Amino acid sequence: MKNITVIGAGTMGSGIAHVFAQYGYEVVLNDISAPALEKALASITKNLDRMVEKAKLTGEDKVNTLNRLTLNSDLESAVENAELVIEAATENESLKLKIFTDLERMCGPNTILASNTSAISLTKIASITKRPDKVIGMHFMNPAPIMKLVEIIRGYNTSDEVCELIMNLTKALDKVPVEVNDYPGFVSNRILIPMINEAIHCLYEGVAGVEEIDTVMKLGMAHPMGPLQLADFIGLDVCLAILRVLEDGFGNPKYAPCPLLVKMVTANKLGVKSGEGFYSYTPGSKELVVAPKFSRFPATLSNLS
Ligand code: NAD
Repeated sequence: MKNITVIGAGTMGSGIAHVFAQYGYEVVLNDISAPALEKALASITKNLDRMVEKAKLTGEDKVNTLNRLTLNSDLESAVENAELVIEAATENESLKLKIFTDLERMCGPNTILASNTSAISLTKIASITKRPDKVIGMHFMNPAPIMKLVEIIRGYNTSDEVCELIMNLTKALDKVPVEVNDYPGFVSNRILIPMINEAIHCLYEGVAGVEEIDTVMKLGMAHPMGPLQLADFIGLDVCLAILRVLEDGFGNPKYAPCPLLVKMVTANKLGVKSGEGFYSYTPGSKELVVAPKFSRFPATLSNLS
């Protein structure tokens, strides 16, 4: 396998494209948004520069990695030579079903179609295609160039051959693949996102402030980052979308999103990508500036309403 196409050049798509290009694959990175493609190239270049500074890559590696990367805004030409397509577009089921309908029509019969979805059923995505045996989940973690884990999700019809091939490919990227079955949220987000939702409930109910909640989990549970800061990094819209999938998929109200999360997404407070979530961020940077209005302790229902 040599030619990979990544669809969606946001937080995850840009990182996934970076990884494949760094490990010698020819990568086409597709997005409907030209600014998203420009931003992706700038962020990949910056991340490569950082790796060169830390002597993890040479300057020549950086140039070769960038030379293997092609930006593209036309899906049909993006996938014409692809042996593997990894979809990493916005977490929205109808959007993903539309993309996979297009991919079924545009890709060669042997092309493997993967999705980086955080929670949407791979079996459902596969059912829209005529090749459900060749549809699989490749759930990279954020930031993709750094995090070792890739959750490999087997849809109901994913073949053993495709699963083995994708497991081996993931190892060739110096990542650790873990195979899981296709149930809502898989393993990672079924455990992580309800924990984040519970942290938001603690804030909403006035149990403690943002920094107190994050400090408890960092220092008490040895988490490298508190759940509220992690939610800002993941994107509050993505967290909400995953909770909706868990709630619908299991039909269990325990997964219902905290009203504060719903309200923040409605107000476009999405975390790092919008500049403000539970914390504030300098535009274009992941540096945390200061916890905004939720930093008071104890937060009360009235000051959050
Ligand atoms: P994002 O909002 O940063 O980027 C999504 C990109 O998709 C945008 O650039 C948008 O322009 C593009 N897009 C939308 N429709 C498109 C289309 N029809 N064709 C091509 N591009 C299109 O989102 P993200 O955080 O990178 O998430 C992407 C996927 O990865 C989602 O399925 C998400 O659940 C999953 N994921 C996210 C994280 C995370 O921490 N953010 C971690 C693992 C998996």
